[in-house]
Amino acid sequence: MPMPSAVDLAAHPLTTWQGPLGLPDFTRIGDGDFSGVFDAALTAHEAEIEAIAGNAETPTIENTLAALELGGEALDHVSSIFWCRAGAHTNEAIQALEREISPKMSRHFSAISMNERLFARIDDLYQRRDALKLDAETLQVLEKTWKNFVRSGARLDAKGKKRLAAINEELSSLGTNFGQNLLADERDWALFLDAADLAGLPEFLKSAMAEAAETRGQKGRYAVTLSRSIYEPFSTFSERRDLREIAFRAFTMRGQNGGATDNTAVVRDMLRLRAEKAKLLGYASYAALKLDDTMAKTPQAVHKLLDPVWEKAVEKAASDQIELQRLAAETGSNEEFAAWDWRFYQEKLRAEKFAFDEAELKPYLQLDRIIDACFDVATKLFGISFEEKQGIATWHPDTRAFVVKNADGSERGLFLADYFARPSKRSGAWMSALKSGYKLGDGSRPVIYNIMNFAKPPEGEAALLSVDEAKTLFHEFGHALHGMLTEVTWPSVAGTSVSRDFVELPSQLYEHWLTVPAVLEKHALHVKTGKPMPKALVDKMLAARTFGAGFATVEFTASALVDMAYHARPDAPEEPLRFEAETLEKLKMPDTIAMRHRTPHFGHIFAGDGYSAGYYSYMWSEVLDADAFAAFEETGDPFNPALAERLRKNIYAAGGSKDPEELYTAFRGKMPSPEAMMVKRGLV
Ligand SMILES: [Zn+2]
Repeated sequence: MPMPSAVDLAAHPLTTWQGPLGLPDFTRIGDGDFSGVFDAALTAHEAEIEAIAGNAETPTIENTLAALELGGEALDHVSSIFWCRAGAHTNEAIQALEREISPKMSRHFSAISMNERLFARIDDLYQRRDALKLDAETLQVLEKTWKNFVRSGARLDAKGKKRLAAINEELSSLGTNFGQNLLADERDWALFLDAADLAGLPEFLKSAMAEAAETRGQKGRYAVTLSRSIYEPFSTFSERRDLREIAFRAFTMRGQNGGATDNTAVVRDMLRLRAEKAKLLGYASYAALKLDDTMAKTPQAVHKLLDPVWEKAVEKAASDQIELQRLAAETGSNEEFAAWDWRFYQEKLRAEKFAFDEAELKPYLQLDRIIDACFDVATKLFGISFEEKQGIATWHPDTRAFVVKNADGSERGLFLADYFARPSKRSGAWMSALKSGYKLGDGSRPVIYNIMNFAKPPEGEAALLSVDEAKTLFHEFGHALHGMLTEVTWPSVAGTSVSRDFVELPSQLYEHWLTVPAVLEKHALHVKTGKPMPKALVDKMLAARTFGAGFATVEFTASALVDMAYHARPDAPEEPLRFEAETLEKLKMPDTIAMRHRTPHFGHIFAGDGYSAGYYSYMWSEVLDADAFAAFEETGDPFNPALAERLRKNIYAAGGSKDPEELYTAFRGKMPSPEAMMVKRGLV
């Protein structure tokens, strides 16, 4: 058998990009190319790492930190195209490769973080950091790099390293168990109903329930399942209080039903291991470990945000409940108001107060006009512009390519956008980079892309968006701007490489400009008449945004506070569920509202590690974006040029080059307070 020919990374279209506009030549890339190129690129990166670690010369920024940052270029190139394909245009071959490549990548990068000779060189630079007289960004990168090694256990002795590896492995399989148990509970429970039981349910829900019953072998009936997309509308619309109660109890007991799929012991073990890991790495608690590289930094800072919000939310929920009880009494209910009544009466009240049909808005929200609005706002705020290029081959023919230009006409980078849903694309919307922008070495121009899942209109018709979809477009474009406006030197702090409680600021902030009156007047034009959205409709749309905030904020914040309570202790509770109950009692949790995620099904913090001691981040980002937009409102000009320049320089261009607190303060003059967010939510 002939040996497969070795891949030449310097000539392969996956690693050496020679297509139009500096993109890869997608017409020369086949699905069969990835595997061999990945292997060659991993080997090349290993050799680069070995050369840095084994360098006999004294460590310098150049021969160690810069070499580390610029290494692995071929791997970056093939990875960025592969993960783009895996999300936006996959097939069975790509999916099989994903399963093969994921563990290879994780082994590769954990070997780098455990490389003792490499860490010794980083540590040497770190210990001499003052004498090296580094500029602020280089110092920041050195400190971050050092900390990442340390947080991966680089400074532990052999015994400690072994224990840490064992803990990580055990945590990762417990996290998988947690997720699978939850999935099993959600899959196995269903409440089968007949046509006579469906009073109040809208058509879309009936058909989803019919489909759910059919897949469970009960064709012709209707199933309430524990999927949020069925459970929530069912408890919102069903006139049958008895059925709402059954569904509520099942939903809030997911993961806590005894037997093989019960998550109680999994949670107890995870909390114990997390506390041990924090101690091993020298932190007071797991929350202290997780928050160390965030904007919040400490559990105390998180409480400073959440506690006042909690207080207001509980007050608002209490006054809302009185109104809902009144409505319940008026409509003939004499039962005591319960948790399974809240969504039902809240919907009745909403319909009464803000009756408008989403269908009224849609004709005003044409995809192409909303894209123009995104570009237009970016031009007004930051001076950049977008020029579309036709006929550029990418991963799919629907993808559009835009050259991003600076105010002086010079080219800044590329923006690619793939707007329509198709079976080969995963659901959701996201931003990513084929290449990030930085100045180190020969430098690199950003190539940023957005992926959406809007319904593709029939040939010749305009694509129309819902309000939520238009918001999503602005949101992801805000992330894209974070990538495109970056001005940093070092790749590891470029664009969106910032802490998890800071990364949603540029995106959530950008959403605010969608509903600026001047933007709507110019771009929200009726698809047939070309007339702008009537003011009465705009007002209704804006007013409806704050409805139900008491309930939503209580259910969210309770979960965030319980997450923090678990992880800010130096040890772990023996009985997590008792601890959950005690924590809620101390908080005076209203008994008519349940946590959005109770412990046994709190996937964000237990099915893996993504948001442990981090569920607060969603609200933290909201505080930042509300406070940042309030800065513009205070000047009376949503495009205030001086403020826009400070925003560009300190937020959109700065990446992770400085501490986020320092960046935010440089933009705003002070740290944010939760007031603007509470106003935006309608809590005050
Ligand atoms: Zn986002």
